[in-house]
Amino acid sequence: EPVPGGPAPAEEPAPRAVPADLDYDGRVIAGISASPGVSIGPLWKFQREELTVAETAPDPEAQHRRLDQALAAAAADLRNLHEEFWKKAGAAKAAIFKAHQELLDDPEMVAEAHALIDRGKSAGWAWRAVYEERAGTLAQLADPLLAGRAADLSDVGRRVLRLLAVVTESVAALPDHPVILLAEDLEPSDTAKLDPARVLGLCTAGGGATSHTAIIARSLDIPAVVAAGPSVLDLENGRAAILDGDGGVLVADPSERDRGRAAEARVKVGERREAERLDRYKPAITTDGKRVEVAANISDPAEAVQAVEAGGEGVGLMRTEFLFLQRDLPPDEEEQFAAYQTMVRAMNGLPIILRTLDIGGDKNVPYLRMPAEGNPFLGVRGIRLCFEREDLFRTQLRAMLRASVEGPVRIMYPMIAVPAELERAKAITEAVRRELNVPPVELGIMIEVPSAVMMADRLAREVSFFSIGTNDLTQYVLAMDRLHPVLAPQADGLHPAVLRMVERTVEAARRAGIWVGACGGVAGDPAGAVLLAGLGVAELSVAIPAVASVKARLRAIAMADAERTAREALDCADAAEVRALVRHRFADAGGLS
Ligand code: PEP
Ligand code: MG
Repeated sequence: EPVPGGPAPAEEPAPRAVPADLDYDGRVIAGISASPGVSIGPLWKFQREELTVAETAPDPEAQHRRLDQALAAAAADLRNLHEEFWKKAGAAKAAIFKAHQELLDDPEMVAEAHALIDRGKSAGWAWRAVYEERAGTLAQLADPLLAGRAADLSDVGRRVLRLLAVVTESVAALPDHPVILLAEDLEPSDTAKLDPARVLGLCTAGGGATSHTAIIARSLDIPAVVAAGPSVLDLENGRAAILDGDGGVLVADPSERDRGRAAEARVKVGERREAERLDRYKPAITTDGKRVEVAANISDPAEAVQAVEAGGEGVGLMRTEFLFLQRDLPPDEEEQFAAYQTMVRAMNGLPIILRTLDIGGDKNVPYLRMPAEGNPFLGVRGIRLCFEREDLFRTQLRAMLRASVEGPVRIMYPMIAVPAELERAKAITEAVRRELNVPPVELGIMIEVPSAVMMADRLAREVSFFSIGTNDLTQYVLAMDRLHPVLAPQADGLHPAVLRMVERTVEAARRAGIWVGACGGVAGDPAGAVLLAGLGVAELSVAIPAVASVKARLRAIAMADAERTAREALDCADAAEVRALVRHRFADAGGLS
């Protein structure tokens, strides 16, 4: 059996290669860069919950049964996880779950817990006492392999304990000093709750660069690395590390030299950012006089003001579904109205695009009780869910339209795949508008499904604007799940297949006389911003911390060069070739990296 963290057998996928230009002395674990920046600090494993157990319990027979049931259920979970990871990421990455199953299958440990129950302890208390004691002993051993098992034992012990304890949701489980967070994966709602002052960086075993976790990390300006594989979870709390969000690696036990260079990199990035920040209100006009609008993506009412302060010329995407996460009931009309009104007022006359609910895919809202799906990204998601739950859709539209009388609100529908959906969404919006008797607002759609690109000429006749969602468009065009731990690195929005989709969309829009924006992650990528602009995208909507830098990049180049390079990029073979081309063509502008 492969040992967690040990070398993978030859026929299994090797751990991700460390980028050749990175030179660290410490132990480098490679993942995918999800949010830029470098940080140095102690590691901390993210825990969603606190587990509480009573010490004693009156009925030992019932406690014996509870313990056995919990052990059986945890073993079943691990078998499922093993199978799932094995399918998604290969045997080497799944091995950890197999190893965890074996750790659980330890008759001596189980017998010790049962003996404590016989002495009047509760099942949870007994189990915790036994596994914590063993993990403690293992952690003391000099053999690093055995010491490493302590983390595994704590992990698997906790998995069982969760079934025996009272679980309280909390994020207060963070220590009182800043840390680099490690997690198996984070849900968008977990990431949205993080306090950026206490989180120096994020590193997840799973996930992808366009996952919503990555998107939130970028908006909070926290360096992040995703898809680093389960071995990152073997690292103990408190261990020193560098999280290199630009290089896409976590470096455990960095040397003095590593720390020095990471600190230098931080200073350099800080200086560049400060220079960009000072110019953030200047428009993005290329050296040959072409203007590109740069707006911000937000997901929370309080971010509207930050978007304006960061130099955003509008909000190109408000992800309204974030108002629906982390709660037990959907926000009612008044609550939503208050949220939208707050944002519209904060924009102070600048336009804001409110996207209607895009629930589904990786944004799960349990209280809606939608049936589980085998393929949620291809399921009842976005506008499709709004048609299933027209009550939610109408309430949201009422709130948006009421807020629209206070400023330039545009409404945008996500996941439109075919013209009939747009027709239906527009009809419902119009009915709600008449009920409220408010003036019409500009309507637009996300272009993020390949069929919408192919039907863009027809769709363009029906709306005022398009906004290209490169995150989803990339996953649907390349048939690579945006969260997939193995495929995600290849699912780069600069792939020529995606760029050709952009070209086609812009052409259809041009013929119909409407404008095209882009609000996926690629719009905030230095090379991506230039290529999209070169393809005729008029508005780039990016994470708040990227607004000033995207403006600065555009001011440094000529549109004619961007157009020429974009045309060449359409003929490249893959995203890597596109990136190399941009580096080469814009070497004077620092290669746009
Ligand atoms: C996109 O798909 O590119 C997009 C901007 O929407 P989201 O990331 O919220 O799916
Ligand atoms: Mg999308």
